[in-house]
Amino acid sequence: MAQNVDKIKDHAELFQEPEYQELFKAKKAFEGMPADETVKEAADWTKTWEYREKNFAREALTVNPAKACQPLGAILAAVGFEATMPFVHGSQGCVAYFRTHFTRHFKEPFNAVSSSMTEDAAVFGGLKNMVEGLANTYALYKPKMIAVCTTCMAEVIGDDLGAFITTSKNQGSIPEDFPVPYAHTPSFVGSHTTGYDNMMKGILTTLTAGKKKETTNGTINFIPGFETYMGNFRELKSLLKAMNVNATILADNEDYLDSPNDGTYRMYQGGTPLDVAAESINAEHTIALQTYTTSKTRDYIAKEWGRPTSVSRPWGIKATDEFLMKLSELTGNPIPAEIEKERGRAVDAITDTQAWLHGKRAALYGDPDLVMGLLQFLLEVGIEPVHVLVTNSTPEFEAEARALLDSSIYGKGATVWGGKDLWHMRSLLFTEPVDFLIGNSYAKYLWRDTGTPLIRIGYPIFDRHHLHRYSTIGYNGAINLLNWIANSILDELDRNTIVPAKTDISYDLIR
Ligand code: SF4
Repeated sequence: MAQNVDKIKDHAELFQEPEYQELFKAKKAFEGMPADETVKEAADWTKTWEYREKNFAREALTVNPAKACQPLGAILAAVGFEATMPFVHGSQGCVAYFRTHFTRHFKEPFNAVSSSMTEDAAVFGGLKNMVEGLANTYALYKPKMIAVCTTCMAEVIGDDLGAFITTSKNQGSIPEDFPVPYAHTPSFVGSHTTGYDNMMKGILTTLTAGKKKETTNGTINFIPGFETYMGNFRELKSLLKAMNVNATILADNEDYLDSPNDGTYRMYQGGTPLDVAAESINAEHTIALQTYTTSKTRDYIAKEWGRPTSVSRPWGIKATDEFLMKLSELTGNPIPAEIEKERGRAVDAITDTQAWLHGKRAALYGDPDLVMGLLQFLLEVGIEPVHVLVTNSTPEFEAEARALLDSSIYGKGATVWGGKDLWHMRSLLFTEPVDFLIGNSYAKYLWRDTGTPLIRIGYPIFDRHHLHRYSTIGYNGAINLLNWIANSILDELDRNTIVPAKTDISYDLIR
C-alpha cells in the first residue's frame, strides 16, 4: 500500500509511488493517448507565431479568463457593512464557489446564504425560495442587514428582486423596516468588478433613503472598491488619521477578512456601521480608490445625492502624492512631517534597488484598476511593461492605460490586450518573452509552461500565504511592491547562477 496511517503522504509524494505510476500508464494506454513524441510535437507548435495568430483569431471560445462572476464581487461589498449577511438568490452551487474562493484567498471563513433554487423554481420562479430564505436568514443568523444579489439562473428566468423582497415583507418573512438592499448581478455580462459596483450602489441607495439634509456633515467618504489587500485598509486608515480626515469608509472589509484569532468565533466582524453608512449621503465629498469598480456608484452619488466625487488610485509615489494633496485641499490640513518621512523612505528604497529594475521587461494581467495601479508603479521604477492583459476590460480602461503608457519612455513598447484570456497570454509569453510575469495564482500554469518567473500580485492568490495582509497603496505599499518585484528578480538571478563552473560566473552574495 502506498499510503500508510503512520506516515500519511501528501499527494505530491504519494503519486510518485510505483502503484500510482502503473495506474497512470494504464490509464494512458486505455485512453489511447498519442505517443510522447507526437504530444511534444503538437505542444511545440503551440509555442510558435503561427499558433499565436490562430489563437488570437479565436472568437467563440474563452480559455482561462482572468475574471470572476458578478455575485462574487457583490458579496464582497456586502460583508464590508456591519452585521450584514449576503443572500444570493439562485443556485446553491454558485454560492459554494464564492465562499470557497474567498476562504482560499483570505484563509478566513466567509458567510453567504443562498435561496437554493432548483428545477421547480427555474420553471415557476423563485418567489417561494426568496420568502422562505429571507425568513430563515433573519431567524437563524440574526443579521442587521441582508444584501441580496442573483446568480445567472435567477436572471435567466427574470426574477424581480424588488417585487420579491416587497412580497416577502408583506408576508411577514422579515420586518417591514428591515434593510434588504439588492442588486441584479447577471454573470453573462460584466464581471466581479461590476457586481461589486452594483451591490455598493444598491446598499447605499437603501441605507441613505430619506436621510439627505440641507447641509453637509463635514465628512469625506472613501470607497476602496473590489479591494483584496487588507493591508490597504490599514494603510488608508493610517494616512487618514495622520491627515486628520473625518472619514467614512464604504465599505470596511478589514476586520471581516483579516480577523484576529482571540478564541471567540464571531459570525460578523467589524464593517461600516449602518447608521454611519446612512449618513454618508451628507458627506462633503466621496473619493473612490478604484475607477472601474465604482462607476455606477459614483454616477448615482453625483446624480441622486448631488455631491461631488473623484477618483484617486494611490499606487506608487506620484499617485500617493496626488492623493495626499487632494486630502489636504479638501480638509485644509497640511501633510504632516511623519508622512513626508514615509515618502522619503519609499523613495530611498526605490533608489537603492533601481539598478536591478531598470529596463526589465514585464507582462501583467488582472482587473483594470489593479493593472492601472501596477502600471503607475512599474513605470515609476523604470520597468518596461510589454504585455498588459485585462479580460474584464472596457474602452475607458484601454484609453486610460494607453495614455499612461504613452506618457513614459518605458511604456511606449507596451500593448494593451483588452478582452483576452490567459491562453492568449501563453502565446504572448512564448513568442515575445519577458523577464517576469505579474498575476494571480492562475499564472502558475503560465510559469510552469513558459518558464517565465512569476510575481504574485492580484486576486485570487490561493497558493501563497499572507500576501493579502500587506498593502499596495501609499508609500508603504510602494515599498511592498518594490520588495516583491525586486526580490523575485534577485531570486531568479540566483537560480540562474547556481551551476558551479557553468552558470555561477556572476554569482554573488551581495546584490
Ligand atoms: S457564472 Fe453564473 S452560473 Fe456560474 S457561478 Fe457565476 S453566477 Fe453561478
